Amino acid sequence: MTSNSGSINPFETAQRQVDIVAKVLNLDAGTTSILKHPKRELTVNFPVRMDDGTYRVYTGYRVQYNMARGPCKGGIRYHPQVSLDEVRALAAWMTWKCAVVNLPYGGAKGGVICDPKHMSKGELERLTRRFASEISPIIGPEMDVPAPDVYTDSQTMAWIMDTYSMERGYSVPGVVTGKPLSIGGSEGRGEATGRGVMYVVREAAKDLHLDVKKATVAIQGFGNAGSVAGNLIQKELGSKIIALSDSRGGIHNPAGLDIAAVEAHKQKTGSVVNFPGSNPVGNEEILTLDCDILVPAALENQITRDNAKGVKAKIVAEAANGPTTPEADDILFANKVTVLPDILANAGGVTVSYFEWVQDLQGYFWEVHDVNTRLEKVMSASYRAVADLAQKHGVHNRTAAYVLAIGRVTEAMRVRGIYP
Ligand code: GLU
Repeated sequence: MTSNSGSINPFETAQRQVDIVAKVLNLDAGTTSILKHPKRELTVNFPVRMDDGTYRVYTGYRVQYNMARGPCKGGIRYHPQVSLDEVRALAAWMTWKCAVVNLPYGGAKGGVICDPKHMSKGELERLTRRFASEISPIIGPEMDVPAPDVYTDSQTMAWIMDTYSMERGYSVPGVVTGKPLSIGGSEGRGEATGRGVMYVVREAAKDLHLDVKKATVAIQGFGNAGSVAGNLIQKELGSKIIALSDSRGGIHNPAGLDIAAVEAHKQKTGSVVNFPGSNPVGNEEILTLDCDILVPAALENQITRDNAKGVKAKIVAEAANGPTTPEADDILFANKVTVLPDILANAGGVTVSYFEWVQDLQGYFWEVHDVNTRLEKVMSASYRAVADLAQKHGVHNRTAAYVLAIGRVTEAMRVRGIYP
């Protein structure tokens, strides 16, 4: 999935998106400048003991972008290509994402430059615990609440929760979300991102009079977001998944792929590649396949000015963060492709993270049905608000989502005023 991701700086993209919206909202230069800069950035270099007894120094970041609306919220990713600018962009997007779905949160993001695929569980645990300790002065239930992201999961969150709690001397479940159920996790959090994607696809299809039962779907990326979205779009909407990919390559079968069987194959072989009865397809090629719904669920900068013209889908539902560049947005809009932007489409994850945090603070836990019903309400209402705003201003959904989100963040900044 590295084909396009290296060349475009995601933070420049994030800043350009703010400029576009500042014009629509008529924001003054001072406010625009605040919105284009992260509030607080922490870089840590820390040693980890490897299994062979040697030490390696890793670099990690936590960026708190804006906390006007509440405690910062956002995941931590482990990936060889993590950079400070990428984390800044992701922290900005978290700020707008929390505001689009109207959670009382600001935005943050963290990342560690590492290759988790080539580390043992013990090495990952020691890396996670030391990173948690290094960033512990700036995290906490009232300040900044991390969660899983690319190549981190509920186990990673358990280690962070334990490390933070050990250092304080008591258990602090609300310091992270996406935890295992046994230590204060929420029902429904594991599948929340993919479930949210399914809800907004369903709502957009209604507006477009697209029969989801006859729709074909291609999914780039088969991690937590992509696999759950695929599963639920197949099971609950009845659409046909015709192509899937992961970091090693993709598979295509116009007659449809059985997601459960593909999952079993990936479990066994480590990849979706070579799934029986499918044809190979590249990670770039998958974006321009003949299909009704395209779900980019991998990394940033996948749909660019170079390939946007080739996108044939009617709906692009961004399960990944930042998969489409601003130039590509304009091309898709001109070609009447409905884009469900990341800050709306994948907001199901952070929405149920919010539910988890609320449950932790109250020490009172909900049933899965309550979680999913509330999630559905948040996702459908947010979709409606964005789609109506897009219609009203004659802009694409991303700009509309930004108008909604940045409008809310600037209102919080305005009413609080600038200190001192
Ligand atoms: N990493 C997820 C995201 O990008 C979830 C963040 C959270 O739950 O705080 O939205």
